[in-house]
Amino acid sequence: MASDTCEAARALVASAHRITVLTGAGISTDSGIPDFRGPDGLWTRDADAGRDATLAAYLSDPAVRKQAWQSRLDHPIWTAKPNAAHKALVELERSGRLRTVVTQNIDGLHQKAGSDPHRVLELHGTLHATVCLGCGATGWMRDALKRVAEGEAEPDCLRCGGILKSATISFGQELDGEVLRRARLAALDCDLLLVVGTSLSVQPAAGLVPLAARAGAQVIICNAEPTPYDVHAAVVLREPVGEVLPDLSSVPPFGGGGQFSSWGDPSTWS
Ligand code: NAD
Repeated sequence: MASDTCEAARALVASAHRITVLTGAGISTDSGIPDFRGPDGLWTRDADAGRDATLAAYLSDPAVRKQAWQSRLDHPIWTAKPNAAHKALVELERSGRLRTVVTQNIDGLHQKAGSDPHRVLELHGTLHATVCLGCGATGWMRDALKRVAEGEAEPDCLRCGGILKSATISFGQELDGEVLRRARLAALDCDLLLVVGTSLSVQPAAGLVPLAARAGAQVIICNAEPTPYDVHAAVVLREPVGEVLPDLSSVPPFGGGGQFSSWGDPSTWS
């Protein structure tokens, strides 16, 4: 890609030593997983689609749970492969610049692409695991979905009989405090925040952008549509992320494998 804004973004990446990336559903649309609010998003096409995505509805209504299990069974995540944008972030990590990927996604595609799992913070959890809302027991989603495929409309917890749910954050549900703390530290500590494929309309994820900017980081936003936080960005790129990210990650390698600041390596923060 050759444009002045792309060149400006490449220059910011080339001079960065500690990049934190914040990703959203838009990085996975090229992998066949629809986003929520893009032009072809699930909620753009059906305004009622998110109505039952609350923890209260899940807890109180067996029909909501049965529908949720059926859509988990049919979810495009199970066949999705990482795309050029996920792979570009792996390249950026290998160049020594990228420290942390904070993702709002639940699809596991960063890890599948080869990102170091210790550097990936899943703010909204993962669809690959289950959690019991009664006793807190965790398990693999594939085991629960096998029970659904074999005819159980709503698999219960094998330990206590409680209500099982995907280990994702529903509306009305608290984020994991430790994951959020590490995400905030990664925003505070970076010298460049690269925001990719998110409408920045969900808090507290979106708040990481002003947090990083106020702490002195440069901000690049790569998103097809305007976001409420574009004002914080040194560069805004509207091109498809599958084209932008490979271009940004192709800057020359960084000598010495990355510099760690006084915060140390985020993967070791306790
Ligand atoms: P969002 O749907 O609100 O916004 C996605 C943004 O990405 C849109 O503005 C859209 O225009 C842009 N976009 C889509 N494809 C693009 C592309 N190829 N190039 C450039 N821009 C592109 O999603 P969000 O901000 O991540 O927040 C919504 C919530 O959706 C999150 O909590 C997340 O957990 C959940 N979600 C996750 C997945 C997933 O895991 N893949 C999928 C759908 C929703």
